[in-house]
Amino acid sequence: MSGVEHRALRETMIATARRMNASGLNQGTSGNLSQRVEDGFLLTPTGMDYDTLEPEDLVLMRWDGSHEGKRAPSSEWRIHRDLLARRPEVGAVLHAHSMFCTTLACLRRGIPSFHYMVTSAGGEDIRCAPYATFGTEELSRHAVEALEGRKACLLANHGMLAMGKDLAGAFKLAVEVETLAAMYWRALQVGEPVLLDATEMARVIEKFKTYGQQPEPKG
Ligand SMILES: [Zn+2]
Repeated sequence: MSGVEHRALRETMIATARRMNASGLNQGTSGNLSQRVEDGFLLTPTGMDYDTLEPEDLVLMRWDGSHEGKRAPSSEWRIHRDLLARRPEVGAVLHAHSMFCTTLACLRRGIPSFHYMVTSAGGEDIRCAPYATFGTEELSRHAVEALEGRKACLLANHGMLAMGKDLAGAFKLAVEVETLAAMYWRALQVGEPVLLDATEMARVIEKFKTYGQQPEPKG
């Protein structure tokens, strides 16, 4: 068929959205996903089952909030717009109401330094943004603040956000953060998890900067 713009990217978005279902990140049609393009971003439409999504269903949005396409954008378009506009290193944003992140978010608890992999979200903890009604500018503002120096956060009484330089990166981090949330929640059932101190978390962050880029070990 004819040229819908950014076809390959749209197909990757749909594949990623379906992976959100398959991985259990999504609960119903509550998740959404965005991908930066030259002069705006592509966003999943509101309230559509990802199994039925076609490339044409994705919404092309501009920075001023206007959009093109036959579908209405996700109600959380402001969060995607504001994060992509403010964070030039970010290419894709994922939002979900995943089970364990949302469980902690309903307790208004972030994820502290209980495991060294918490640093995968960019710092020594994963914050929980204060509550605001879904789809509002206020919620977007809270999310932007909670993501300062981070690539993932929880949203109080709502869900989670994860960002990456591309869709694969955002998805991978979302799965990691949901796993951490599940581990932290389980540990809390038994007692108070022992936290790693700031010095150790800083050491891990430093180590990850060169992880996978080290010269071959000798011998
Ligand atoms: Zn939501």
